[in-house]
Amino acid sequence: MTGRVFLIGAGPGDPELITVKGLRLLQAADVVVYDRLAAAELLTMTRPDAELIDAGKLPHLHKLNQEAINALLIEKAKAGRRVVRLKGGDPFVFGRGGEELLACVAAGIPCEVVPGITSAIAAPAAAGIPITQRQFAANFTVITGHEADDATYTLDYPTLARLDTLVILMGVARLPVLAAGLIEAGLAPDTPAASIEWATTPQQRIITATLATLPERAHAENLSNPAVTIIGKVVGLRPD
Ligand code: SAH
Repeated sequence: MTGRVFLIGAGPGDPELITVKGLRLLQAADVVVYDRLAAAELLTMTRPDAELIDAGKLPHLHKLNQEAINALLIEKAKAGRRVVRLKGGDPFVFGRGGEELLACVAAGIPCEVVPGITSAIAAPAAAGIPITQRQFAANFTVITGHEADDATYTLDYPTLARLDTLVILMGVARLPVLAAGLIEAGLAPDTPAASIEWATTPQQRIITATLATLPERAHAENLSNPAVTIIGKVVGLRPD
């Protein structure tokens, strides 16, 4: 009998921000393959006999590569196990969930996706920043800052500079380049901007500045991963 794979979003950090459905399936899992960003506390809620496997991928330090993770999910499911693939935030927001889903489908493994609360939305919310607001922002755009050097993915700064709210994931290292690119493309240097580190966790830290000053502030305050950066007038609405 073939098992199945549940691709579950763990939410942004606070273990209480997983969905009810995600938690129920996690508690019933035979095998849990988890990421670094999935809350450690959630793993204590699994069955005592559940097999827990760390698929953690630190930037530039892959413990298991993506193909190995895909193969692991398929192998465990083929052995008849209920496999939960627990991923930070939402599985499909820069989480490679799509690759895992396709691999399972190609192998004939039933795969169910349980959405999660993405840090792209939860981090600004936890900092008191509404990502949309009547009169201020009628759109929000989420980009990765990480792959902008990649020849296959280049940021269209003139387009980004015309949007209302811009949210950047994986952008800590490249904050200076991103800010300079946006300013050069016409986004006002005094546009409010903020970075939120370890959002929704006890270590949450918020740095507010402007587009022009955020890179320097972030560097001075030693901002590190994981952090979400949000740029736009809405950042100015944050209560002090
Ligand atoms: N699927 C995840 C994102 C994975 S990419 C999601 O939907 O949230 C990893 C990036 O997510 C990090 O580099 C950071 O930009 C962001 N991130 C995830 N958790 C975060 C948190 N608790 N606080 C701030 N940023 C977070």
